[in-house]
Amino acid sequence: MPPVAAAADTFELSPIVAGWWRSVEWRLDVQARVRWIEQALELGISSFDHADIYGDYRAESLFGEALRIAPALRNRLQLITKCGIRLRSEQRPYRINYYDSSAAYVRAQVEQSLRNLHTECLDLVLIHRPDYLLDAAALAEVFEELGMAGKVRHWGVSNHNTSQFALLHRHHPGLRTNQLEFSILQMQALDDGTLDQAQQLGLRPMVWSPLGGGRLFDDSEQARRVRAEMTPIAARHGVSLATLAFAWVLRHPSRPHPITGSGRIEGLRDAVAALRVDLDAQDWYAIWIASKGHALP
Ligand code: NAP
Repeated sequence: MPPVAAAADTFELSPIVAGWWRSVEWRLDVQARVRWIEQALELGISSFDHADIYGDYRAESLFGEALRIAPALRNRLQLITKCGIRLRSEQRPYRINYYDSSAAYVRAQVEQSLRNLHTECLDLVLIHRPDYLLDAAALAEVFEELGMAGKVRHWGVSNHNTSQFALLHRHHPGLRTNQLEFSILQMQALDDGTLDQAQQLGLRPMVWSPLGGGRLFDDSEQARRVRAEMTPIAARHGVSLATLAFAWVLRHPSRPHPITGSGRIEGLRDAVAALRVDLDAQDWYAIWIASKGHALP
């Protein structure tokens, strides 16, 4: 069966996306945040990944403040955010953390993200985690409503398995992506069907924690084993280990968009450099084997 074509419009994320999950830790003042965004744009990174809950519900506003003092940036970038997790915090004293994809909650969080990010329209909004109580038809109606109101251009999901994706996709065929964890240290997406589904539908996945959340550089046995395999390959390509890790993700035929997590511009540069690395299948599999700690069957 030929792949189902994605909706015909010009919407594209930049090949590398910059994530703002950790941005509260970067301790950048607003001028430094403007400069950070400008430098990302200069590197060709024009898509920025947020979520309502990042930084204890504060990260979106850090970005929004930068857009408020430098409004000309808005037309040069794409804003992605997520909602659907109710995370306990001081201002939100829920009894537990839980998921909520109800129409009222998604509508309210989109309005909040618009205010936080100081924008009139979000380019892409993702349902952050699969809600077991999802009413797919009702959620698709909210997608339509917020789309018609010009508040959200596109919708997608994150961390959804193939049947969860298929359920929502049936009600809203315009879903644009499934944002998944995938890295040299976390390869589940290769086997659980999610990356296959992305290819089948012609939808490019977004990939979170492409460096394993930084664990690639820690002292675990797996990380040491992987680095030992990667070091001569990286040297042969004349790139850093971080760049090789991004290249390993990019090598997948689903054409993923890796999301950086670094607060350093050098970290963004490492990711962008991976777009020029042509990794052959033997190197790719050698790293797979090092990560698993056993040969292929
Ligand atoms: P990551 O790139 O795997 O990890 C980033 C961490 O690695 C940072 O602490 C960074 O520190 C460190 N790092 C980067 N280069 C390094 C190097 N050469 N040596 C040592 N440490 C290095 O990405 P992530 O932050 O876990 O995730 C990326 C983005 O994905 C997030 O910002 C968020 O937007 C998204 N995300 C989505 C979900 C979801 O459920 N959808 C979940 C998690 C994340 P420095 O700042 O010092 O470089």
